[in-house]
Amino acid sequence: MANRILIVEDEKDIAELIGFHLSRAGFHTDVCHQAFTALESIRKSRPSLVILDLMLPDMDGIEICKRLKLQEATQDLPVLILTARSGERDRILGLELGADDYVSKPFSPRELVLRVRAILRRMEGRGPSRAPLVLGPLTIDSDSHRVYLHNQAVDLTLIEFKLLEYLSRQRGKVARREDLLSEVWGYRYEGGTRTVDTHIQRLRNKLGTLGEWIETVRGVGYRFREAESEDI
Ligand code: CA
Repeated sequence: MANRILIVEDEKDIAELIGFHLSRAGFHTDVCHQAFTALESIRKSRPSLVILDLMLPDMDGIEICKRLKLQEATQDLPVLILTARSGERDRILGLELGADDYVSKPFSPRELVLRVRAILRRMEGRGPSRAPLVLGPLTIDSDSHRVYLHNQAVDLTLIEFKLLEYLSRQRGKVARREDLLSEVWGYRYEGGTRTVDTHIQRLRNKLGTLGEWIETVRGVGYRFREAESEDI
């Protein structure tokens, strides 16, 4: 499946130029000329990477980057900042906020494509591509981070997705709350295990009747029920 790149750039000529070079390199591209539409598009279509101009008519790109990195659902979305503001302050601020790379205008489109590829390769290095897991009416696609219930997409946050993915891949086994914290929240997390319960509850609610497949193991953690034939 080809990676989809979202280009957030108010200058239409530049957006078109980037789109042209990325398409030629085999990527699918979407373009947003405003911050507002970009945030909406990211929420809805989950691109693989965002190329983000800093000077946009309705919001500073730095602010968009900050918002993306603060939200669970988008904190791992790679961001490449592209801007005419080449000041050291902006560059450092962008990278501190979690941008994955920074390219100053004027730029070489070829170099931009190479940098996009490099970021995506780094991302892929985090985990090998896996076949979707199908458990009766439930499909969990780790590559696209999508979950389907009876062929309908289920809208999960990144944390909910990771919880479901982790539990379902080792279904039948008990996952301790501490394991879930380190596996799902990782190094970013500094709170207590009660957070796990809150998120599990939200995940169960979103899964409807299948929510009961995530069983509570009292005093320990959770277990995804081993599917039995009647479930499938
Ligand atoms: Ca601009």
